[in-house]
Amino acid sequence: MTIVNTVLGPKDSSELGFTLSHEHILLSSAGIQDTFPEFIPREFAIEEGIRQLAEAKAEGVDTVIDLSTMDLGRDVRVIEAVAKGSGVNVVVATGTWRDVPRSFAEADPEEIAPLYIREIEVGIQETGIKAGVIKVANEPEVSTAGEIILRAAAKAGIATGTPIYTHTLATNRIGERQVEIFEDEGVDLNRVCIGHSNDSADMGYLTGLLDRGAWLGLDRYPGREVTWQERTEVLWKLIQAGYGKRLMLSHDWSVASTMMSKERLAARPLTNPDNYLFITRNVLPMLLELGASQSHIDDLMINNPRGFWES
Ligand SMILES: [Zn+2]
Repeated sequence: MTIVNTVLGPKDSSELGFTLSHEHILLSSAGIQDTFPEFIPREFAIEEGIRQLAEAKAEGVDTVIDLSTMDLGRDVRVIEAVAKGSGVNVVVATGTWRDVPRSFAEADPEEIAPLYIREIEVGIQETGIKAGVIKVANEPEVSTAGEIILRAAAKAGIATGTPIYTHTLATNRIGERQVEIFEDEGVDLNRVCIGHSNDSADMGYLTGLLDRGAWLGLDRYPGREVTWQERTEVLWKLIQAGYGKRLMLSHDWSVASTMMSKERLAARPLTNPDNYLFITRNVLPMLLELGASQSHIDDLMINNPRGFWES
């Protein structure tokens, strides 16, 4: 039995069901909520988050991993309200995204790891809500500060048995450097998922990471440069090559964001009218058409995310 922390409390990993491995609800930046709250569409994020995730729940989505960290303006009360209102389990993250606080830039990873551990074992911002996963991000390369948070994440992951999910710039093969650092820290790569990997269609890069023992997050749909159909063809190739039990799917969607221009926000429903259901409505049917079986799909959507915690 493996217990996974969700925003509404602990759950057995067997209860997670159909899981989207890398999503968001509300995206912002550190400190804005405390300082300039009127800049953040908090109420909209709750209402629209409940609407979109209740719709997703009605079409079979049971669990979402919200990989928003402190530097992405993580607001666990928003996530809690959305989980309650929609009936979808949401796992929240500790760790650090690309906006590594200047205060961490020269810190020792040994000083940062206990902060992540506290969010896993005690709770986030005195809410008692515990993180279930550690998020780290590196783009466009692994900078000095980026390496500090990777090493801190590794130490917190080892200390608590919590899995680590990364953000990469896949076209710069960032996953390879992340894996090197995790290996150097002694992390079992079976507890690491290299995210945004489907921004690359380079089979050598992808299978190289898989062969070293990491999970891959094919977690951008419909995505930009590489079309969603090409992403699905690469996914099918990986399944045919025997890697179907090591992949997780998701959208990297968000309901509300203060990180995009009004124009970009307005254009989003044109490229993804299905929000958290794009995979269910488009990718999985295409996968079946290509020749995948329901058991391949059950691995991607149910068994693999569960195994990420159980492994
Ligand atoms: Zn993301």
